[in-house]
Amino acid sequence: MDFLPIFLDVREQPCLVVGGGAVAARKCSLLLRAGARVTVLAPELSAAFDADLTAGRVAHRAARFRDEDLEGVAVAIAATSDDAVNRAVASAARARRIPVNVVDQPALCSFILPSIIERAPLVVAVSSGGASPVLARLLRARLESLIPAGYGRLAALAGAFRDRVKARFKPQERRRFWERPLQGPIAELVFSGRDAEARAALQAALDDQRLAGPGLSLTGGEVSLVGAGPGDPDLLTFRALRLMQQADVVVYDRLVSQPVLDLVRLEAERIYAGKERAKHTLPQEDINHLLVRLAREGKRVVRLKGGDPFIFGRGGEEIETLAAEGIPFQVVPGITAASGCASYAGIPLTHRDFAQSVVFVTGHMQDGSMNLNWRALAQPRQTIVFYMGLVGIDILCRELTAHGLPAATPAALVQAGTTPQQRVLTGTLESLPGIVHDSGVKAPTLIIIGEVVTLRDRLKWFEPAA
Ligand code: SAH
Repeated sequence: MDFLPIFLDVREQPCLVVGGGAVAARKCSLLLRAGARVTVLAPELSAAFDADLTAGRVAHRAARFRDEDLEGVAVAIAATSDDAVNRAVASAARARRIPVNVVDQPALCSFILPSIIERAPLVVAVSSGGASPVLARLLRARLESLIPAGYGRLAALAGAFRDRVKARFKPQERRRFWERPLQGPIAELVFSGRDAEARAALQAALDDQRLAGPGLSLTGGEVSLVGAGPGDPDLLTFRALRLMQQADVVVYDRLVSQPVLDLVRLEAERIYAGKERAKHTLPQEDINHLLVRLAREGKRVVRLKGGDPFIFGRGGEEIETLAAEGIPFQVVPGITAASGCASYAGIPLTHRDFAQSVVFVTGHMQDGSMNLNWRALAQPRQTIVFYMGLVGIDILCRELTAHGLPAATPAALVQAGTTPQQRVLTGTLESLPGIVHDSGVKAPTLIIIGEVVTLRDRLKWFEPAA
């Protein structure tokens, strides 16, 4: 982050705009909207200033800029077409430690103005740190269409109830109380212009002693077992993201990628539950009980797991304990590694010409061997996907050949699928083990076996530069 995002109180503060053109007029009106007392310094003013001038909202001085003009100024903005003047304003302001912005010259600025979406009192600010104002504006346009126009009135309604809610609930409960009216039917009432009804409904909610609906208890904790997908944060579900942003505590595995973790609510506690092969940071028993304990403390717990929690994720075991202890829980599916890796490697898992079935198998070794039904796996026109198969790759290629698959059956290995580190190696049942040993492959990897692998030559599309 190159700039600290802050919202500055400039109400009744003297602010200086140097320049008399249309851009200066826009900056001037922005300052006015925030309640500043604005002086515009320019030999003459464009028509864009007319409305503010006639209404007496701005003071105009027809003069050239001098250092003394900054005396007592809270914020200065330079928007002239004269580079020398802009520089003079910037350096004089910096010398006096007055925040200064020079339009379109990030190098001269001590602060930059974000693109904003205004639903006063609610304001969303977007900035690219000066790298690409156009990108920030495009994002702003998208947010404009996403945020209902009534959000400002909703924020005002919440503001009116803030003290009452504060008096009634402890901080943690407060957040929970608010989430319902701010996104449920009460919000909808506001959006459709029925503010009085919304106000009454909010008061009723505040008076209601029960408050809670199923899964939304105000005092008891709950656990959401959430699939985080294979790595690319864009592959999260909306619900996963929402829960991650509402969590008090997040318990996560090694497989959960950093970009996904970065989307967790900043204030949430993060607990690493490990699971590196043969080096479990927390034994499964302890994870199960940790979840129970955290929920009993009244916390909203997100148990974040790579891929899908119900596919080789021990999700079942974790919620069995929760169910037995009577803790409310929900399960949010995620994109499993097989789907993610196959898509990003350009290998369709089924195809009318090559495979009518696909099986997901664990290649996890126990006591140096893999106890699998090899005959059932080694079927024609079937794609086999091995999770956790890297260590046992020699064995699984050998067994599949021994049980009837041709040695020339195409096979692929996908490392760190869907991430910028994705790497795909292809060969056959015969050649893949050698290729893998020679190329220093690292976990996590997924192995895909079957004729569908040949489609990659034509269908690959995601080839990160790494
Ligand atoms: N619940 C997870 C799987 C957990 S088992 C899911 O649904 O995806 C862990 C195995 O998943 C790893 O050993 C690896 O085989 C596979 N895996 C998970 N993420 C992967 C990724 N980004 N790229 C390749 N393989 C991955």
